[in-house]
Amino acid sequence: MVKKIPMRQCIGCGEMKPKRDLIRVVKPKEGEIALDLTGKAAGRGAYLCRSAECLRMAQKSHRLERSFSCKVPAEVYEVMLHELSEADGDS
Ligand SMILES: [Zn+2]
Repeated sequence: MVKKIPMRQCIGCGEMKPKRDLIRVVKPKEGEIALDLTGKAAGRGAYLCRSAECLRMAQKSHRLERSFSCKVPAEVYEVMLHELSEADGDS
């Protein structure tokens, strides 16, 4: 028996990983792009490893912007980096 694990691609390193190992980044209809720590927020989503490095890579490669077809201000990345480091604490 093969267990089916939903896989998603990290927008930072580009690796395919199990969805639950990734953090969802959501672009709501209104408001700023943010980390979706519950995985349930409405809006278009992209996936990212729980790693500041991958977030930096996504920023450099503009993959998040391409995936959402909009500009992502540097402050948004800073907020996400902060949230990412907080979320890391309880692992
Ligand atoms: Zn990654």
